[in-house]
Order: sequence, then structure tokens, then C-alpha cells
Amino acid sequence: MSSRAESATRRALEAADGAAVELRIDRVACTGHGVCAAVLPRNIELDEWGYPIVRDPMVTAQDAATAIKLCPAMAIYRATP
Ligand code: SF4
Repeated sequence: MSSRAESATRRALEAADGAAVELRIDRVACTGHGVCAAVLPRNIELDEWGYPIVRDPMVTAQDAATAIKLCPAMAIYRATP
């Protein structure tokens, strides 16, 4: 996703609930369970092997917390500003 589109997404999320964070995935730690895509279907899809492709890293703080909590490999983290 382009930085322009990410900025638009960030502004929309901030307008919606006052919080927007950027998610990152540690590709070494990721084991391809696919929980992230189920939790964030608008932001993440899976490749043919079940590994995540992040289409839009900007999510609400609440969605970030849920994805981080549910990832069985602890491979999802918030980018530091
Ligand atoms: S839930 Fe975690 S381990 Fe599973 S695909 Fe997503 S990042 Fe990888």
C-alpha cells in the first residue's frame, strides 16, 4: 500500500475512534496459522502457503491488540513511531 493510502487510512481510523497503529509481522517467527487474516480480513490476506500478506498495516488500537493477543507465534507487533 502506498504511503498516501496509508495516510488516508490512518486519518480515517483516527476520525473513527481516535487511535490508529501500524502492525508489523515478524516473518521469521510467523508459522502461517492464518489467525491474523481471520481477525483482520480487511487488512491481511494469506498467500497460497497460508502466510500473511499485509495489504493495509493501519488498524485501530483495539484490532491491533486482538491480533497480537491471538497470534499463536507471537509474530505480530506494533511498529514504533
Ligand atoms: S496469526 Fe501469526 S503465525 Fe499466524 S499467519 Fe498471522 S502472523 Fe503468522
